[in-house]
Amino acid sequence: MKIAVIGAGPAGLSTAYNASKDGFDVVLYEADLLEKVPSKPCGEAIPKGALYYTPFKGDEDFILNRIKQVRFYWEGEFIREIKNFPLAEGFIIDKKKFLRSLIELAESEGAKIIFGKRITIRDLPNLERFDMIIDASGIGVIAQHFLDYKNYRRIPVLQAYAKGSDIPEDTIVFWGLARGYAWVFPRGDLYNIGVGGVNYSPQELRRILEELISHFNLKLVTNIRGSSVSVGGPIKRLVTNRIRVVGEAAGMVMPLTGEGIRYALIGGQIVYKDDYEEIFNKTIRKKLERGAFLLKIVLKIPNKGRLARKASDELLYRFFEGDFRLTDVLKVLAKYISIK
Ligand SMILES: Cc1cc2nc3c(=O)[nH]c(=O)nc-3n(C[C@H](O)[C@H](O)[C@H](O)COP(=O)(O)OP(=O)(O)OC[C@H]3O[C@@H](n4cnc5c(N)ncnc54)[C@H](O)[C@@H]3O)c2cc1C
Repeated sequence: MKIAVIGAGPAGLSTAYNASKDGFDVVLYEADLLEKVPSKPCGEAIPKGALYYTPFKGDEDFILNRIKQVRFYWEGEFIREIKNFPLAEGFIIDKKKFLRSLIELAESEGAKIIFGKRITIRDLPNLERFDMIIDASGIGVIAQHFLDYKNYRRIPVLQAYAKGSDIPEDTIVFWGLARGYAWVFPRGDLYNIGVGGVNYSPQELRRILEELISHFNLKLVTNIRGSSVSVGGPIKRLVTNRIRVVGEAAGMVMPLTGEGIRYALIGGQIVYKDDYEEIFNKTIRKKLERGAFLLKIVLKIPNKGRLARKASDELLYRFFEGDFRLTDVLKVLAKYISIK
């Protein structure tokens, strides 16, 4: 069985590695040249559990920082520090090295990876010789022509590298905003900083990032780069005839946080299987859809800063992780709204 994969991000590489290992004949096409991968900005934070979906052990050199605590701010005001925050049991990685390691793994299993080849819808006839075409392009370059992308929604995000703060190497900063958040993640001898949110203009996001830079005495060492992240939750169907979609191209991102690497890696383990949609629907879909639903609700709540101050550590964790029963969260929100 021959499989074409589009995109050498976490989803495409995870697919190439797992499918090759399972005996499939895989060719992966990546638009960028090897030295440019990954071209897209990223916060480079993964929960420890994300590595469970790879053969990595947690001692690889792409792991730059081991995170043990989180400092929460609300629009510039310090709220609290949480130690042993489950989400923060995680890593800040060098994503370039991480993807290189995945490339090596996929190639060692026999996958052929072709860099510098951008696939467009016009290439479809040339892909005829493949039994399956897996779109892992992050944006659904092929899949969006065949599948329902109505609920697929992206929001703008800015990211840069900076130097010079005294935030400890095991501590990440979340800076809550009315409709998004900014972050400072220690990354080796640098900091990965950024901001994203719903209905912010690029100018507003830049202003917030400048505030963050000034608050933590940071100095930019790169340009501020703009990108976008999917927050609408997974699209309805993932398969049509020979075409399948996985990773961010399928909306596999936690809408509340923009965390997508873990879900891309998981997707790559199942996308080429006969019961792909069934496995996905029974496992990750519900969690990501709950995240999308909660994001809609949270966006409507006024004075979220107060809620963030009052919420228990556990609720904050569950919120970020999307690991909650909706009824529990709705009860808390109802109580909050009624006592306001
Ligand atoms: C600023 C920012 C910060 C983020 N921070 C985090 C974070 O800290 N942690 C986290 O888990 N997630 C984060 N995310 C989300 C995460 O980066 C993505 O969800 C994840 O990388 C998705 O993986 P993917 O493989 O599905 O897609 P991508 O990483 O987008 O990879 C897609 C690949 O396909 C290639 N491609 C695109 N079009 C074509 C084409 N036509 N032909 C061939 N190749 C093509 C691209 O060049 C790219 O290499 C962040 C996103 C942004 C924008």
